[in-house]
Amino acid sequence: MRSGLRQALTHCELPHLRATSQLHIPGRGVNVPAACRSSVHAASQLAIPDTAQILYVTAAGAQHDMPGHAECAARIPAILEALDTHQLTPAFRPDEVLQLEPTRLATFEEVSAVHDGNYVRGLEKIMQQAALQEGPAIVESAPTYVTTTSNDAALRSAGAALDLIDAVVAAAERRASSAGAGTSGGSVPVGFSICRPPGHHAVRSGPMGFCLLSTIAIAARYCQQHHGLQKVMIFDFDVHHGNGTHDIFYDDPSVLFVSTHQAGSYPGTGRLSEAGSGDGEGASINLPLPGDSGDAVMQDAFERVIGPAAARFQPDIILVSAGYDAHWRDPLAGLQLRTSTYHRLSSMIKQVAVKHAGGRCVFLLEGGYDLKALGEAVADTFQGLLGAASIDKFNPNLLREEPRDKADRLLKDAIAMHSL
Ligand SMILES: [Zn+2]
Repeated sequence: MRSGLRQALTHCELPHLRATSQLHIPGRGVNVPAACRSSVHAASQLAIPDTAQILYVTAAGAQHDMPGHAECAARIPAILEALDTHQLTPAFRPDEVLQLEPTRLATFEEVSAVHDGNYVRGLEKIMQQAALQEGPAIVESAPTYVTTTSNDAALRSAGAALDLIDAVVAAAERRASSAGAGTSGGSVPVGFSICRPPGHHAVRSGPMGFCLLSTIAIAARYCQQHHGLQKVMIFDFDVHHGNGTHDIFYDDPSVLFVSTHQAGSYPGTGRLSEAGSGDGEGASINLPLPGDSGDAVMQDAFERVIGPAAARFQPDIILVSAGYDAHWRDPLAGLQLRTSTYHRLSSMIKQVAVKHAGGRCVFLLEGGYDLKALGEAVADTFQGLLGAASIDKFNPNLLREEPRDKADRLLKDAIAMHSL
């Protein structure tokens, strides 16, 4: 883990960037022939009522587990239990909340669109270490572990995300065609994949930071290659910088990567000055928030940088790396987001998706290691997506004061640097 990052950027140190709206987007506006699109999966044929607001899928990776490790299999049941407690499952809200059954593993071609083929093939071999020692094997220093089922878990997690994208895109198409015919097709449900292992640290050629495959990068390429959604925005609100996603799309203007993370936290990347290269210059927006940042800073960041960046980019779909470890209860970092912050965030993200991305929006779970905070925060995300009130009862006066001035300087620098 690297530390001691220099975060104090000044205007004079910031390179001038082209506005992303001025970038040439290869393939933009080109219709993808139907023959080039993927075969239709069961997910896209799901009967989605016009009243649906949330479509979720679960990929629990139950056998991908290691005693004492923060990224544990208990995370998914904690979320499902919270959804049940707050009556946010189809059993309680059959018209608004739907659960999609995952149908498949991601294919080699889909995964190798963002990962080196040798790594994808080698994952099976990496797992043999776990088989030899009859228990989880550490394969990277974070530490990242594998069990004998980890390859299957990672491919299943990615496959579930792709199923979800099929379903959300199909719902959006149905809505658009209904609107064209003068009838109401209802709203487009937001997708949420309750999946693990997480993915945003995995790099092209290997595992990193509890992550084996870059699920969100696989999903982004799938949107482009199989649905003709050329401009993908990825918003990563995990407390850690999504270095894997960042690296994969660093020179790619067709993917706008926007990340909020704690300055100086693992893995040490994600400075404001890391803004893309080549054709992708300006298409990476990193906001390293000062420690103790919380609800007010996050709202500021969204309203002043993230929302305007989305408005300028006009994405065809928004994918969200939804990590919940910026919560004040989380043991791995030092930000102070509240449960209600995720409620507000999800509501704002949905509004931006409706306004600028045809309503197409899919959340993929990343981190979040305090089980209570994780469950409650995902439940409040659902509440926000449903337009219902926050469930958060915590007294925010018990939190430390936020570094508003320091955060304000960062946001001003980001606005100037990205011409927002
Ligand atoms: Zn994280």
